Amino acid sequence: MTTTPLRFSGPVLPDGEVRELYVVDGRVTYEHQSGADTAAEGWIVPGLVDAHNHLGLEDGGAVSEEDTEQQAIADRDTGVLLMRDCGSPADTRWVHEREDLPHLIRCGRHIARTRRYIRGYGVEIEPDDLADTVAEQAQAGDGWVKLVGDWISRDEGDLTPSFTDDAVAAAIGTAHALGARVTAHCFGADSLAPLLDAGIDCIEHGTGLQEHHIEQMVARGVALVPTVQQTDKFPEYVEAARDKFPAYATTMESLHRSRRDVLMAAYDAGVDLFVGSDGGGSSRHGCLHEEILAMADMGLPADYVLGAASWRARSWLGRNPGLDEGDPADFVVYPRNPVEDLTVLATPSYVVLRGRRFG
Ligand SMILES: [Zn+2]
Repeated sequence: MTTTPLRFSGPVLPDGEVRELYVVDGRVTYEHQSGADTAAEGWIVPGLVDAHNHLGLEDGGAVSEEDTEQQAIADRDTGVLLMRDCGSPADTRWVHEREDLPHLIRCGRHIARTRRYIRGYGVEIEPDDLADTVAEQAQAGDGWVKLVGDWISRDEGDLTPSFTDDAVAAAIGTAHALGARVTAHCFGADSLAPLLDAGIDCIEHGTGLQEHHIEQMVARGVALVPTVQQTDKFPEYVEAARDKFPAYATTMESLHRSRRDVLMAAYDAGVDLFVGSDGGGSSRHGCLHEEILAMADMGLPADYVLGAASWRARSWLGRNPGLDEGDPADFVVYPRNPVEDLTVLATPSYVVLRGRRFG
């Protein structure tokens, strides 16, 4: 079906060259189209990427398809056109069939240790079953597997790695043999070395990273999604745990205190950072722009964070990074230059997904 071409004009990021961009049959072209409808003028940014999202998840566990749809729409309407789901108990495969919802890369379910994660979220297992479970989730997902690398052990009263080193090594080998990449939730330091030694591809949160971990990540191209709005909630966890688990409270307090220095050390060393809202419940969807601002507030340059939430993340996830001739028309138009004022990300003037207007 051929529809009337749409015409956009303005600086096209990342290079910022002022261009006339047309959308024809869902694709970008820079060839003049006579009879095109003028759609918008402004700063044109390749579709935003939420690198740590949880579609279909709420505090109690999986939600209905209707609620999942609302979460995806909230994300889409703020310009998030590609999401890497970082673990969901809901079967969200149907989202792939929906032309009006963002592109989705699913991780399958979180893989956690028995009774050592939020109830109703993950598959909970013992170390001996880790490799087989990873194989199942790798086959059920879209090329990523999510491990819960550490969580509070009530027996030990502190943050503790979920699995043994041998189990982690076997599991990551299994995932890679099946063509899946692996990421892990890691708050503390102790879970990191076995995961990095085993060749993990990405670390979520990463508040426990030490200098040698960071060096290893740079050398091996391991990404970090810091979810700074999430790690800013550590004081809440500390208060909830202080009486029963004082050692855990102390650990979390210390991780919270050093989180900015850790993030900036990772950035300065050259770790690839990406932006994740950690959106779970519906109120936490549609807020990637807040995470972008929060990362910039930590001290990261605005152009770096925007690239981490757009062109660089797209490339990392195997999609077209920019808006070249013939690329899928997935982009967002803003009335001002977002690199100069990231707050404009809250109010896109035009969202184009698969060549159609939303938002
Ligand atoms: Zn998460």
